[in-house]
Amino acid sequence: MLNPWASEIWRLITLVVLALLVGLLTGKMLLAALFATVAYLIWHLVHLVRLEKWLRKGGTATPPIGNGVWGELYYHIYRMRQRNRKSKRRLADVIGRFRESTSALPDAAVVLRASGEIEWFNDAAARYLGLSISGDIGQRVINLLRHPSFANYLSKGDFSDSLEMPSPADEMMILEINIVPYGGQNQNLLIARDVTRIKNLEKMRKDFVANVSHELRTPLTVLTGTLESLADADDSETLATWRRSITHMQQHNQRMLSIVDDLLMISRLETEDNQRDHYPVSLSAMLATIYDEAIALSDNKHGITLDVEPGIWLMGDEKELHSALSNLVANAVRYSPAGGTIVIKCLQDDEGILFSVKDSGIGIAPHHIQRLTERFYRVDAGRSRASGGTGLGLAIVKHVLDRHGAHLEISSEIEKGSVFSCHFPARLIYTPVK
Ligand code: ADP
Repeated sequence: MLNPWASEIWRLITLVVLALLVGLLTGKMLLAALFATVAYLIWHLVHLVRLEKWLRKGGTATPPIGNGVWGELYYHIYRMRQRNRKSKRRLADVIGRFRESTSALPDAAVVLRASGEIEWFNDAAARYLGLSISGDIGQRVINLLRHPSFANYLSKGDFSDSLEMPSPADEMMILEINIVPYGGQNQNLLIARDVTRIKNLEKMRKDFVANVSHELRTPLTVLTGTLESLADADDSETLATWRRSITHMQQHNQRMLSIVDDLLMISRLETEDNQRDHYPVSLSAMLATIYDEAIALSDNKHGITLDVEPGIWLMGDEKELHSALSNLVANAVRYSPAGGTIVIKCLQDDEGILFSVKDSGIGIAPHHIQRLTERFYRVDAGRSRASGGTGLGLAIVKHVLDRHGAHLEISSEIEKGSVFSCHFPARLIYTPVK
């Protein structure tokens, strides 16, 4: 194929020669030259019009057919446009992926202009900060997040530390705000993390230490006082007082031991590997033992019924399960007045194993139920202590059930009684080989 410029020159030469010939033959050289020039111009004009029409259509259709320089021009413009379209599509893909990934970020991200106006934010920002795509882009962030500590933080301009504040969308949610300057135009990136869980855990840990100290303080004071009296006594007449004091000391000592044992159990449950000691456990046999223990604890003051299908086995930790289930049964006895009834039930179906203890005791008001499994949480601390409670029983139950993939359900009505149910998943069911 000829070089397009060569073919163009050939076209021109052919036209000039033709014009010369026609001019020589007709003797009107000027007219022939004028005619040839006009024809050549019209030819170019036609191509210019076609090019303009094609470009106006967006250049997506196939380019007009042309030969010589025009064909080459059409081809190059077409290729350039194709390349542009491809890189535009790639860029749109990159932006789309960037948007998707930032939307999936669990933390809120807000891009702020130097003047403090919101330029862009992700989905989490809408949830955590209550921002709305339709109205808040372009608004000053200070007008939308109106908490005084945030205004203070922003006006100080020192973002080396983070700020904690309640979420404007949900006042129960605590946010940790960080502002990171970036880019050459004093832009800022505001990042907000939901730290509610961490804060609650911190508070629970602090409360826990305070509770442990408080629980151990009374028994220790009693022991100290009694020991002082013993040390001061130097005559045998005080023997009777000593006896009373020693019994008192023994009771408190027992309480301290129970608290320490329960605390050790919780710390073991928290630190040891899950499912390390999971072996087949006969629930039916275990519940028979727990039933006997309940009869002994009740001292025949309650009507206790055991309704358990024979041959229920599950994969678990025998010691942990015994501790959890006996805690629930012991609570039913301790929180039911004499003459009350207690039903211990256990059945198995396709969904798993359901264990429940139903009592006709004092019941629990609804607002306490959510918090019963917290350490040292008691509805009535005096009553719990008087019946030998440590306030840690249900915390242990919850831990043990969590470690077995099971969950606790509590339903209760004041003065009528309570039902504590444990749902064990079907995957824990064990079928002994006969
Ligand atoms: P405690 O050693 O005080 O019994 P738990 O953790 O076992 O500690 O129970 C926490 C609290 O839940 C108890 O103090 C009591 O107020 C309440 N509770 C537990 N079981 C029952 C029940 N069967 N009936 C009524 N209240 C109960």
